[in-house]
Amino acid sequence: MITLKNVSKWYGHFQVLTDCSTEVKKGEVVVVCGPSGSGKSTLIKTVNGLEPIQKGVIDVNGIQLTDKKTNLAQLRAKVGMVFQHFELFPHLTILENLTLAQVKVLKRDKAAAQEKGLKLLARVGLTAHANKNPGQLSGGQQQRVAIARALCMDPVAMLFDEPTSALDPEMINEVLDVMVELAHEGMTMMVVTHEMGFARKVANRVIFMDEGKIIEDSPKDAFFNNPQSDRAKDFLAKIL
Ligand code: ATP
Ligand code: MG
Repeated sequence: MITLKNVSKWYGHFQVLTDCSTEVKKGEVVVVCGPSGSGKSTLIKTVNGLEPIQKGVIDVNGIQLTDKKTNLAQLRAKVGMVFQHFELFPHLTILENLTLAQVKVLKRDKAAAQEKGLKLLARVGLTAHANKNPGQLSGGQQQRVAIARALCMDPVAMLFDEPTSALDPEMINEVLDVMVELAHEGMTMMVVTHEMGFARKVANRVIFMDEGKIIEDSPKDAFFNNPQSDRAKDFLAKIL
């Protein structure tokens, strides 16, 4: 579903990704972790073309991102992305947030888009908030709206970049619960997170990055029970 082959990227003279290769199969959940500045956000942003790469190949669902003929806007519509800061449109209602891209990008008619939006809003338990503005919702609620908004596009995969790290502790679980449910339904997911409880519960594999390189790419149990590199051991010792 998602293949990265020898991906390298530079910001000016600074090499932020070096020779990163991995594959995420349909229905797999891959957690990406590693120290601050190791390139986790950059890596997952390359997967939906938000950050261009200078070397290597990225293929998402049979579409090569590096191919100049690829329509990046269409690809992005199919790969949902949820960020640390929810990035909802503040001046639109929750329901309008959920329908905008369906109408503009997927050309759905408004009634169908609203029906879909309300269905997904119900799924994240926020039906009662459809006509409020984002500012009237808590951080955890806004993040659940952000997930619902991405799901409205019928994505083939979902990318998450520290979706709970800006939330108050009591709101973290309500967002993780939605993600766990998605994982159990078979959504293909790449998740940058330090929530190792989430990783243990639903990840198939864990990728550990350091200084722009993928240092480990292991099945979950192997990563937690028997990390290979000293850097991963140090990292786990600090966060567990
Ligand atoms: P964190 O855990 O703090 O979110 P990260 O692993 O997500 O870190 P990235 O945000 O991918 O790391 O950044 C990797 C490196 O690239 C860092 O050294 C960062 O300063 C640098 N970097 C990120 N974005 C840019 C940019 N637009 N221009 C130049 N350097 C950048
Ligand atoms: Mg980051």
